[in-house]
Amino acid sequence: MLMEKKMEKKAVLITGATSGIGKEATIALAKLGIKVIFTARSENSGELVKKEIKEKTGAEADYFICDLASLVEVRKLAGDFQKKYGRLDILINNAGVGETELKFSKDNIEMDMAVNYFAPFLLTNLLLPTLKNSAPSRIVNVSSMMHAEGHIDFSNLVEGKNFDKYSAYSQSKLALLLFTRKLAKELEGSGVMANAMHPGVINTKITKEFLADTNILVKTAFRLTMISEEKAGGGIAYLATSRELDGVTGEYFDRKTKKRSSEESYDMNTAEKLWVVSEKVCGLQKE
Ligand code: NAP
Repeated sequence: MLMEKKMEKKAVLITGATSGIGKEATIALAKLGIKVIFTARSENSGELVKKEIKEKTGAEADYFICDLASLVEVRKLAGDFQKKYGRLDILINNAGVGETELKFSKDNIEMDMAVNYFAPFLLTNLLLPTLKNSAPSRIVNVSSMMHAEGHIDFSNLVEGKNFDKYSAYSQSKLALLLFTRKLAKELEGSGVMANAMHPGVINTKITKEFLADTNILVKTAFRLTMISEEKAGGGIAYLATSRELDGVTGEYFDRKTKKRSSEESYDMNTAEKLWVVSEKVCGLQKE
């Protein structure tokens, strides 16, 4: 039985692989011989990526359709995944948005917080039993260097009050980082590692939309630091698989380099309070 488990192919579930760095990370992981399972928002985009993975790596990928802006759909994704796959070696919460105007999810949560934070919070918690059974396993949360501009405002976690695209995005990425830190503590001794990362600055859909109304100086400053989607995807794959990171957990990486994150991201009181509020928002309270 133990032998069977060892010989089974490793499996990764990655969200948001239909474009940008998620797609490149998925291709990089498939090239390493890992079974890749990703999320797409439509059958059309899922099939296109599946075909591209097959052409570039020869691997048969699988996907689940899920709109992460719906907690019901996140629950369905976790349930369907667990029904179909008994094993999960790597979970990568990559999907993200950078809304330029106030929008709400199906659960009436401000969209940046819904997709970038509450969806990964719920999905990860629901998949923990499978990750624990598959240990040693890893969780990679794709945050952003912009977490450093963020602040957790407990009176404005879901409401989108005084919406500002920078504050909303930064708060969601700081929340994801605080979640990672608390999660790593909760998972001590389980063999499941959880780390967060900034993938680099890349000229993807999210960046183009976010910077669309900024002036040429800001755009130029960003362009000067940009790296390719392939390089950024390779950074995610590194965090997900590198043997050098065996046992490393609760850390923040700038691509492949461990780095100190913002002061607030180490505040465990905020992390604990955020966890409790998030359980309520996601309907995960213990009896
Ligand atoms: P991207 O090309 O816009 O990709 C975003 C991915 O997320 C797409 O696959 C998208 O699916 C998916 N997604 C968005 N909303 C979703 C929803 N409601 N439900 C399910 N999937 C959804 O951007 P990217 O740069 O690759 O971003 C990937 C991650 O990196 C994000 O978390 C982002 O915040 C982070 N990041 C990016 C940069 C950068 O410079 N690009 C810097 C720091 C951090 P569709 O194809 O269906 O739209």
